[in-house]
Amino acid sequence: MNRRSIRFRLIIWYAGLLGLLFIFLSTAGYFGFSHYLRQSLEKTLAKRAKQIGLTLLEQNDDASIVDDINKHYAPEINDRFLRITREDGKPIYISGLPKDGSFDPSHLPLLGSFVEQPFLRSENTLGSGRLIVYTLPFKASDERKFLVEVGVSSKQIDEPLHGLLVTLALGLPIVITIAIGGGYLLIRRSLLLVDEIAQTAERITIGNLNERLPIAKTGDELERLSVSLNNMINHLAEMHQHINRFSADASHELRTPLTILQCDLEAIMQKRNLSPEVSEAIGSAMAETQRLAKIVDGLLAVARLDAGEAIIELTRLDIASLTLTVVEQMRLLAEDKDIELTCDANERVMIEGDSGRLKQIVVNLLDNAIKYTPSGGSIKVIVTTDNGKAILKVLDTGMGISADALPHIFERFYRADKARSRELGGAGLGLSIVKSICAAHSGHIEVQSTEGQSTCFQITLPLVSDVVEKKQYV
Ligand code: ADP
Repeated sequence: MNRRSIRFRLIIWYAGLLGLLFIFLSTAGYFGFSHYLRQSLEKTLAKRAKQIGLTLLEQNDDASIVDDINKHYAPEINDRFLRITREDGKPIYISGLPKDGSFDPSHLPLLGSFVEQPFLRSENTLGSGRLIVYTLPFKASDERKFLVEVGVSSKQIDEPLHGLLVTLALGLPIVITIAIGGGYLLIRRSLLLVDEIAQTAERITIGNLNERLPIAKTGDELERLSVSLNNMINHLAEMHQHINRFSADASHELRTPLTILQCDLEAIMQKRNLSPEVSEAIGSAMAETQRLAKIVDGLLAVARLDAGEAIIELTRLDIASLTLTVVEQMRLLAEDKDIELTCDANERVMIEGDSGRLKQIVVNLLDNAIKYTPSGGSIKVIVTTDNGKAILKVLDTGMGISADALPHIFERFYRADKARSRELGGAGLGLSIVKSICAAHSGHIEVQSTEGQSTCFQITLPLVSDVVEKKQYV
């Protein structure tokens, strides 16, 4: 488990706090129980000492006291201790070794002097267990004073305390295990939704702003978070739509005046009496308006693709024959530059898509290959299938792309060599258009290039059977 995850930290905190609370309560319980046992033992011993004083010590004769004790109390048989001492410190009676041998009365030292107040003490009787003794100073009606000491083995307190300690020690790991297990299940359940939100959020990209995060009607912070994030995505989608509409409208509006400008320039060019300077200026203006028109067309295409118009009409088509047609249409351009253009697209490769957009893919790739391949070079176009996919490859023996530029060529307006591309009439939009169309057709584009030697663009698209299967699956 990831140690920095919320799940891990919450479980550790939960189990740690529960463990500490258990230890604290156990310690308090242990000492409370020990205190209670001591007090109740003290009460019992005090009662017994008082009873002995009242029933036995009123007699005058020591022998009859001892006799009565042996007859009625027999302390050693009951595993108890009893010692009666006169005021002068002389013992009248000391009980013998108890039946269970839990203490040894002969090792209990006599108190040095007569005490005035009753008290409880715990003594180590050498070699045996501890003895808990209650001492009661007793005054008979004839003013004789005695010390009555009654006691029991500390086993009476130690044994239940030991039992409690064992129970608590065994209970601690059980409590911690239950805390970790229960905490894990509880936290897992509540964080499941966070995982779902994160997965959906990862899927949402600028081209996929229609999806929304799941909202569990729990009324808690997670519901609020999902609602807020969805509102944010709504705003983003609106803004994105707004920008798209603006780009599309602007490009569209620019098209008409550009066309008029081009026509006017062409008309002026037709005139005969133009000085060489004027005709050169008009020629350059025509080239610039052509470039501008190309950029505007590119922008309009990008805006439409962004607005989700990558597929206008979905049909089944043979990408091989579509490619062959485009290659034939562009062959003249290649021949003008003395570039050998070959096309290997003989088998039928059926895919599902928008023929206009797919044609644009081939046009853009081929246009680039012709633009960036010097005279005498060659271009090869291949359409084939591989592993259940349709493959379209455009290979050229052109100038290639540097390793630095390679990761950026699909970005809008990126041109590896700005001056060169401008000279060749490039605006840096062709490949980004190709990439968007590929993505809309569930395909992808890859490029391999060696600077100064060759470039190979490869497009992978799903075959028709693949598309159908996928659709059924969904
Ligand atoms: P442009 O309109 O500038 O050609 P693209 O988006 O089509 O814009 O291409 C981006 C850049 O990728 C180009 O400026 C060029 O540097 C490089 N590029 C694309 N195709 C090729 C190719 N076949 N050979 C060499 N460089 C290429």
